Amino acid sequence: MSRRKKVYEGKAKILYEGPEPGTLVQYFKDDATAFNAEKKAVIDGKGVLNNRLSEFFMTGLAAIGVPTHFIRRLNMREQLIRQVEIVPLEVIVRNFAAGSMAKRLGMEEGTQLPRPIVEFSFKNDALGDPLVPEEYIIAFGWANQQELDDIISLALRVNDFMSGVMHGVGIKLIDFKVEFGRIWENDFPRLLLADEISPDSCRLWDIETGRKLDKDVFRRDLGSLTDAYTEVARRLGVLPSNVTHRPKPTLIN
Ligand code: UDP
Repeated sequence: MSRRKKVYEGKAKILYEGPEPGTLVQYFKDDATAFNAEKKAVIDGKGVLNNRLSEFFMTGLAAIGVPTHFIRRLNMREQLIRQVEIVPLEVIVRNFAAGSMAKRLGMEEGTQLPRPIVEFSFKNDALGDPLVPEEYIIAFGWANQQELDDIISLALRVNDFMSGVMHGVGIKLIDFKVEFGRIWENDFPRLLLADEISPDSCRLWDIETGRKLDKDVFRRDLGSLTDAYTEVARRLGVLPSNVTHRPKPTLIN
């Protein structure tokens, strides 16, 4: 690999300096981590699948007017993105109870929520990304009120889009996490959807069978993570081998 300046290395991705100012190259690793990196493994091909899937979702979202950091995919594992100032929040949208919410409230996983719920965690690995109320976000200046309002409405648009796309291929979108970043245009900040959207950061259940097609397969030792992600990519028509003759998404009746 060429000698490039590494800007940041996270658990699943590496960011390198991009070819032009204001751009970065986002490299998707095969590393999987869970429980704040207490559980680790290398999953062959995960990075390739997530690069494709994130491209698919980000491009679709851009097409309905959601601003994103994605510029273009460069190769199997890399995409060119806009450099943003990350808002230090994990923005979680939930349609059905699962994971930490189900645990906290003693709810059965899969219970439909009365409406989509947006919640925030402060991005801090050492603290285990604690859930924070909106008031903390404003008081500590992680985002201002206007930005917070924009983040909520953008997150709900992402939810509508993702839920619809997934429903079309027989998958229920239980919940997901997204991140936002700012760019500065003439001294004015503008929010962009950043990071990635992939089965690493969503909960996806097969509508018919309830089979989990997301990172819970790894977290809970439910089988092959590659098989689960490949199934999502196959249904959406974004398997790497199908690139030249990309099939339409498979509609499940
Ligand atoms: N999530 C994520 N990164 C995190 C925490 C959560 O991508 O650091 C995603 C997770 O995959 C799920 C959603 O956010 O789709 C809600 O996660 P939850 O709060 O239930 O936490 P978990 O049970 O995964 O610890």
